[in-house]
Amino acid sequence: MAMSSSNDQPLPSQRLLGKVALVTGGASGIGESTVRQFHRHGAKVCIVDIEDDLGQNLCDSLNDGLNVCYFHCDVTREDDVSRAVDFAVTKFGTLDIMVNNAGITGPPCPDIREFELSTFEKVFDINVKGVFLGMKHAARVMIPLKKGSIISLCSVASVTGGIGPHAYCGSKHAALGLTRSVAAELGKHGIRVNCISPYAVPTSLALAHLHEDERTEDAWAGFRTFVETNANLQGVGLLPEDVANAVLFLASDESKYISGDNLMVDGGFTCVNHSLR
Ligand code: NAD
Repeated sequence: MAMSSSNDQPLPSQRLLGKVALVTGGASGIGESTVRQFHRHGAKVCIVDIEDDLGQNLCDSLNDGLNVCYFHCDVTREDDVSRAVDFAVTKFGTLDIMVNNAGITGPPCPDIREFELSTFEKVFDINVKGVFLGMKHAARVMIPLKKGSIISLCSVASVTGGIGPHAYCGSKHAALGLTRSVAAELGKHGIRVNCISPYAVPTSLALAHLHEDERTEDAWAGFRTFVETNANLQGVGLLPEDVANAVLFLASDESKYISGDNLMVDGGFTCVNHSLR
């Protein structure tokens, strides 16, 4: 006779009901999609960003006054990150999910001899120090609770070279290393730590090397062609919501035995082109 298991129970249609999440860089792009998806699935969400108008507008557009809030926080500043985490806990009572999503690419520079140290430092500040601080302060709150899910946005550039500027690639490798290291420490506290590595997604980050007035329809068309030609999974464009769905999975209890993992959302790109995962 088959034993019954939790898999026999009907899935809740709201997969994050009763959970509290904080999303850094939640005002636009993949972060915004994640906030929308979390909200749709019943979570209470604290949006954190430096773009206050964008963040507050997103909050207002979703808000019934109870379940979404916005907090200004520069992820490179420890006091900001600490206060953002405390704000979410005070507002919603706990913290179950931390998404370290804020990130930048920095301008392209194919010649390392001309790569500005200040650019390198800025990219590492946001993409590595920001992830470290998010993990540190989420752990501060989650360890006493003995549960939690920390998810960081890495990239195909976390496992390959030659994708994006050097500092971006190095910083995303570092964020993957942090994920594995912190997962190894926090497992004993019931806290899962994972990351997600998307291929190219049409957000403002993807066209960051262009000036605002150059981000035309032609530029987006060129970007889509680039994705189409280089992706493995032909004919399927990767959208922010596709990445948000992966974040949702790692945030939910459906992934309760997954930790220290790097979930590739790349249509098989790294499998075919680099054999590295
Ligand atoms: P995006 O530019 O649309 O969004 C990034 C958000 O981070 C913005 O709202 C921005 O204001 C915020 N941010 C930047 N610096 C910050 C800081 N110091 N403190 C707080 N917030 C800050 O970019 P996106 O494409 O949505 O990227 C989100 C994440 O996904 C990044 O970590 C990025 O590296 C990663 N990623 C993106 C792609 C892609 O092709 N778009 C591919 C792989 C990985």
